[in-house]
Amino acid sequence: MSELPLATPETQAFVHIKADAVLLDIEGTISPISFVRDTLFPHSRERLEGFVSDNLTSPIIQDILAQAKALAGGSDAVGALLDWQARDVKAPPLKKLQGLIWESGYRSGALRSTIFSDALRAVKRWRSEGLPLYIYSSGSVQAQQLFFEFSVAGDLRPLFSEYFDTDVGPKTEPSSYLRISERIGARPARIAYFSDNPNELDAARSADLQTVHVVKDETPHSPEFPGISDYCQVTVGR
Ligand SMILES: [Mg+2]
Repeated sequence: MSELPLATPETQAFVHIKADAVLLDIEGTISPISFVRDTLFPHSRERLEGFVSDNLTSPIIQDILAQAKALAGGSDAVGALLDWQARDVKAPPLKKLQGLIWESGYRSGALRSTIFSDALRAVKRWRSEGLPLYIYSSGSVQAQQLFFEFSVAGDLRPLFSEYFDTDVGPKTEPSSYLRISERIGARPARIAYFSDNPNELDAARSADLQTVHVVKDETPHSPEFPGISDYCQVTVGR
């Protein structure tokens, strides 16, 4: 048996950030990319046609079909939606429909979102220490809230103070991070931003935020940003 003391989260920590708020990306940062790719998207792919035909009388579905038809130049609306889905085209009527299918999947219990266990431990600790936590994701605020409401670890919405989507601007634009900083009332330099995407980190850093590159299963290392593979490697405090 080794005589060395067992490593604890404290002894492994190599990044310490002084901050008043924590801002987190979702996909690839606190949730595996595979959840969206292997669970969420197949779920809507398999159900799109059935969901539309089961809800044909719903005004929301009729509205989505009318939008799809107009956008596709008058051709078959369901065919257009299936085609956009197959080619991953971010057409607004398709995004709306996918949101409804996912909501129904979450509410029926067929879908449960996955969170990295180390990320969950960290956000719970930060919250208990009084640090406000915020989410910035390219999924809509409504999709983000469903994601946290129906997680494998239960309803996590109370952990987060506010959710931001691309209504504040693209994730690769520094101005988006400045807008978030204003909205949450913390100076950019006192916000710690966690993401798996170096382009987002670059934009956040240009806006003077502090950045942590989360390097999980499928994320390549970036020489430019200090990376953590486990949240026990970072501490955040005022
Ligand atoms: Mg991401």
